[in-house]
Amino acid sequence: MEKRRKKSWTKRFWNCLPYVAFITMVVVMGLTLGKNKLAENTPITMKNSTLVEESVAFNLEQWDFSHSTVTQSVSQSVSENQLFDLEQWDVSHSVATQSIPQSAPANQLNEKKFQDVGEDIDLQSSAELVEFTGRVEHIFFHPLIYDPEVAFKRKDAKDLDSWMVTVSEYKKMLNSIYQKDFILVHLSDIYQEQESNGSRKMLRKKLMLPKGKKPLVISYDDVNYYQYMRESGIVHKIILGEDQEIWDYSIDQQGRIQISKERDVITILNEFVKTHPDFSWKGAKGTIGLTGFEGILGYHTFGDSPNRQSEIESVRPIIHQLKATGWDFASHTFGHPNLVNISLEKLKSDADRWQSEVEPLIGSTNILLYPYGADPQNDRQKMEYLIGKNFRLFCSVGKESYVDMNNRFSVIFMDRRHPDGTTLRNHREEYLDLYDAVEVMDPLRSLVTSYSNAP
Ligand SMILES: [Zn+2]
Repeated sequence: MEKRRKKSWTKRFWNCLPYVAFITMVVVMGLTLGKNKLAENTPITMKNSTLVEESVAFNLEQWDFSHSTVTQSVSQSVSENQLFDLEQWDVSHSVATQSIPQSAPANQLNEKKFQDVGEDIDLQSSAELVEFTGRVEHIFFHPLIYDPEVAFKRKDAKDLDSWMVTVSEYKKMLNSIYQKDFILVHLSDIYQEQESNGSRKMLRKKLMLPKGKKPLVISYDDVNYYQYMRESGIVHKIILGEDQEIWDYSIDQQGRIQISKERDVITILNEFVKTHPDFSWKGAKGTIGLTGFEGILGYHTFGDSPNRQSEIESVRPIIHQLKATGWDFASHTFGHPNLVNISLEKLKSDADRWQSEVEPLIGSTNILLYPYGADPQNDRQKMEYLIGKNFRLFCSVGKESYVDMNNRFSVIFMDRRHPDGTTLRNHREEYLDLYDAVEVMDPLRSLVTSYSNAP
C-alpha cells in the first residue's frame, strides 16, 4: 500500500508539474509587469497629488461660493486630472497631437453641449425679459498670470504688472461682477449691419434681457500665449481634453506639465459660467482677440512655421469647441503694429496676412481690436482698407465703455475699459461699479520692485 501510495504521489507530482510551472510563470510575469507599471506611473501619480493639493487649496481660498459646489468641482477635477494623466499624457513627449481625442467624435459631444446650453436658455427664457437701452459695458483682459512669483520678478515685471491680472484677481473680479447683476452678451447681440436709407450701416439691435440684469461684453487680447508670456507664469496653450472640454496647459518652473481649468481666462470663465449659468445670456462667453505672428491659442500656425500643418490640425477642434460653447473671435491684427504710426502700405500687408493666415482658421469676423488701443480713424485710406476687409466694430481702450455710432464710416467705434494693474493701482473709484480694487488686488504685486519702494 505504502509503496503504491508513494508511486501514486510521485506520479501525481510529475503530472501536475507542467501546470504548477505554468501558474508560477504567470504569477511571476504578473508581478514583474505590475512593478514596471508602478515605476512608470510613479512620477505621474506624484504630479497628480501636487495638482490635487493645488486645486483644493485654490478653490477653498479663492472662491466664496457655496462649499458644496466647490467640493464637488474639486473632486470632479481631481478624477478628471487622473484620467487625463494616466491615459493621455506622456510627460516626455510633445503632447499637441495627443490632445486630440481619437475615441470621442467631436460632433457627438457638441450636440450634448448644445443640449446643455439649451436647458439653460429654457430656464432663462422663463424669466421676465425687459428691453435694455442703456450703455453696454465692455471690458478686456489679457491672458492671466497664474504664477505671480515668476511674472513679478522678471525684468519686464512693470509691463506685466501694468497690463495683466493674476488668476486670483480675475476670479474675484468675475465673482464681484456677477454679484452686481451683470450678464455676458455677444457684441453681435447688440450691433448688426442693416440697410438704412439705401446703404449698409451698423445699428443697435433690440436687446431683451432678464429683468434686473445689465449686459457686459468681455474681450481678450493676445490670446496667443506668446513665448514671453510662457516664460512669465502664463499658460502655454489651451487644449481639448478627453471630456471634449477646454483645458489649459502649462509647464511650470520645475519643467512639469500642468493641465487644469484653473489658470487661464478661458478655462476659468467656462467653469464660472458652469456654476453660474445666469451670468451668461444664451450661452455667451467672451470675444477672443488673436494676432498671427506667433500662431494662435498657443499653436504655431504662422506661415513659415515648420509644423504648420500639424499645428493647424491640432487647433481646429479647439476653435470648433470654443465656438460651440459661446466664444467669439476678433482680429487683433497680424503683427500687433500701432495702426496710427505705421504706413498705409504696412497696414495693408498686415491686414492681408491676417486674412490669409488667421481668418481661414477662425472664420470671418467683423471685430477689430486695436493693438495698444491706437485708433487710425483720422486716416480715411486706412479705415477704408480695414472696412474693405469686412471689419465693422473697431475697439480701442478708454476710461469708459464709450460708443460712437454716428461717424462718416457708418461703423462702430468703441472704447473698452481695462481691468489690469494700472487701473487696480490708480483708478479704484472708476471701477467700483464692477469690483473694489482693495478687495481684488493680489498682494504678490508688491514683488514688482519698481513699485515696492513707492510711497
Ligand atoms: Zn495686444
